[in-house]
Amino acid sequence: MNTILVLTHIALSGETSAETAALTKASLEAVTAGQELAARLGAALTIGIVAPGSAAAATAASSLASTGARLLAVSGEAFAQPRFSTDAAACEALCRAAQATIVLAPASSRYTRIAAAVAHRLGGFIDTHITAVGGTEAGGSDAILATRWFYRQRVEAVLSRDARPWFLLLDAGTHAAFAGQSGPTQVEEVAVQLPALRTTVSGLRAPSQGTQTIRPDAKLLFVAGAGWTKKQADGQTHAAEAAELILGFLRASGASLGSSKSLVDQGGEGNSVLPFLTHLNQIGQTGATPRHAKGLSTCCHGEEPHVVGWRFIGERRAVSLDPNCGWSRGKADVVYVADAFQVMAWVNARLESAKAQDNA
Ligand SMILES: Cc1cc2nc3c(=O)[nH]c(=O)nc-3n(C[C@H](O)[C@H](O)[C@H](O)COP(=O)(O)OP(=O)(O)OC[C@H]3O[C@@H](n4cnc5c(N)ncnc54)[C@H](O)[C@@H]3O)c2cc1C
Repeated sequence: MNTILVLTHIALSGETSAETAALTKASLEAVTAGQELAARLGAALTIGIVAPGSAAAATAASSLASTGARLLAVSGEAFAQPRFSTDAAACEALCRAAQATIVLAPASSRYTRIAAAVAHRLGGFIDTHITAVGGTEAGGSDAILATRWFYRQRVEAVLSRDARPWFLLLDAGTHAAFAGQSGPTQVEEVAVQLPALRTTVSGLRAPSQGTQTIRPDAKLLFVAGAGWTKKQADGQTHAAEAAELILGFLRASGASLGSSKSLVDQGGEGNSVLPFLTHLNQIGQTGATPRHAKGLSTCCHGEEPHVVGWRFIGERRAVSLDPNCGWSRGKADVVYVADAFQVMAWVNARLESAKAQDNA
């Protein structure tokens, strides 16, 4: 009989009051995965919460009341910041208290850093980048099946293991985030023997919201290709205008910004291109494979090494001047053979006027 533990943590905000305690979206996705697996296996479900204080833990626990799961919490000032030693100690204590055989955790930077070490401390096994968890108790010890992709999302494998505890780190965006009625509930505080702390977290440095262009939770992926910096019909390049159009669209739509390799490579050579793009924006075989409901590609040719990064994009549209580009050869649902400078100026104007109407 398996006992499933879902590890969760509170979103970092620098705020530790109970009112603002909220579990991260990735944590809530792991809760959904845990609920589904527990129902399928007829197994007991426990949810472990790592929180900066007991009030925050209680608030998070009440938001999970409708899961009917056993709720455990490790809380205290030491857990207010991500740090290997304290996070690993907290999760180890939760796993031991739950006597878990299957541990599901979100692949947040916080838990990705510690999960392998915690699995090792418990004599267990870990698999990462899990996108689905299936199986039934009736199928015996191999009955739990975890799915992940290999070789840059080209090969999908289904894994089963006898080793327990088995840790599964779940990729973000693969499950719906749990949302249930808050209610009164009992949360069991788990004591942690803290190790000597050698690391002091002095603060976080992150790009401000306005300059952050990679938005994993956005509904839309907007891709800029090298065409934005190529000579246009007038024989000139228009990089500044391109930057304005792209950033204007991102501001108005909240889309996440992706790029082709050609475009980000130009920046690496010191050419005057789009300064807000880095290799982190690159989508494709040697870039990222994000998950978004929709994608809009602009000024990009749609070659296979790029499009392979679109595997998890639901509806695909492209704007390219080339009617024979890869997108029109079956890789997009809709292709607009048009000048992206004109199209995006028109789209931005529509978004602006819609916003003005909303504010009126
Ligand atoms: C091993 C390997 C790995 C690779 N990995 C990746 C990867 O991870 N990601 C990736 O992106 N690429 C990758 N590539 C490169 C990939 O094959 C392409 O070279 C690259 O994606 C091309 O980028 P692009 O389409 O932006 O540029 P281009 O091929 O230069 O295409 C620009 C397009 O813009 C259009 N255009 C120009 N002006 C306008 C306008 N005003 N309006 C509309 N359209 C316009 C042009 O018609 C053209 O179709 C890899 C290649 C190799 C060999």
